[in-house]
Amino acid sequence: MNIFNFHTHDTAAHDAIISASPSCFNPQPGLLYSIGIHSWNTNEDFQQEWDLMETFCYHQQVVAIGETGLDKLRGAPLDIQIELFKHHIALAEHVKKPLIVHCVRAWQELITTWRITAPHQVSLAVHGFRGNANTALQLVKEGFYLSFGENFNTEALAATPHDRILIENDDSNTEITSVAESAAQALALPIEQVKALANDNAHNFISNIV
Ligand SMILES: [Zn+2]
Repeated sequence: MNIFNFHTHDTAAHDAIISASPSCFNPQPGLLYSIGIHSWNTNEDFQQEWDLMETFCYHQQVVAIGETGLDKLRGAPLDIQIELFKHHIALAEHVKKPLIVHCVRAWQELITTWRITAPHQVSLAVHGFRGNANTALQLVKEGFYLSFGENFNTEALAATPHDRILIENDDSNTEITSVAESAAQALALPIEQVKALANDNAHNFISNIV
């Protein structure tokens, strides 16, 4: 199975990992999913979602945990988001499925939380990465994969080692092929090569090859 599109909210996407909240998880034959509680939804009571999370995380078509994460601009106060992130990490380790993380202006907190919950047997990917080249290299040093979407920093993508690069269209209407085209331009590589490496990396990611 191909996985060109690392992260999408298109519930009918093939060759993709479809991100869903536990209560919206409705697996269709042949499709792949990640489930998690988004940091944007941490202002609400998420206990019920978490109960479903603990049930669905074992599902065969759920290949990753997330998206979850840390966002300083939206959602509950950061300490609550960090607590919930730690729960996702523990669950991911328990079911041996990697983590997909959304992070806005909380890089240090992300790194610190990951370090204090080490050692890890699962991979972590930061999706929708728009940071600069320095941040990219800092995250790669932690062992993270980086997923690039519709908008990204060209130097950051060019600075990222090829075995860490993923591509996605997230919740935008942009086709994954056009994200791959922009990435190919930034990397000065043929588009077919970018698609192949994104696919290989996504497979390594779900196999927890760090
Ligand atoms: Zn998303």
